[in-house]
Amino acid sequence: MEKSLIILKPDCMQRKLVGQVISRLENAGLNPIACKIINLDNDLLREHYAHLAHLTFFPEIVEFMSSTPVMVIIFEGENAVERVRNILGPTDSQKAPAGTIRGDFGLDKMRNIAHASDGKDSAEKEIARFFR
Ligand code: ADP
Repeated sequence: MEKSLIILKPDCMQRKLVGQVISRLENAGLNPIACKIINLDNDLLREHYAHLAHLTFFPEIVEFMSSTPVMVIIFEGENAVERVRNILGPTDSQKAPAGTIRGDFGLDKMRNIAHASDGKDSAEKEIARFFR
């Protein structure tokens, strides 16, 4: 059993896609084992997206990610990290294949519906970060 940390982003919350995104993960046999709705502040976003902090569009990401509350969920299942990433699709929604969450619902590179841990180590760190 493996755990992955998912964040349903402001575009997902605002466009009322929460149920559909959770259903896709549940239908793949993954189980939500923890969930909360929080506001992401500057410090938390700088930590979570540290690998992007040097980029010129980073302030836009912070503005977007803190524009509404987000839903943070831990999903558990066999090979959960890789499977959630596959169900979500690649970062750029325009390049994400139909049938993936980002391909079906995402708008662009930034408004791409959800975050999902990209590896086992980052999943552990992110779970500790958001569920202290
Ligand atoms: P992923 O979310 O697929 O793991 P990254 O870790 O590279 O992708 O980026 C984190 C988030 O930052 C993306 O999901 C997206 O919201 C935003 N982002 C990444 N690259 C861009 C970009 N070129 N333009 C706008 N936003 C971006």
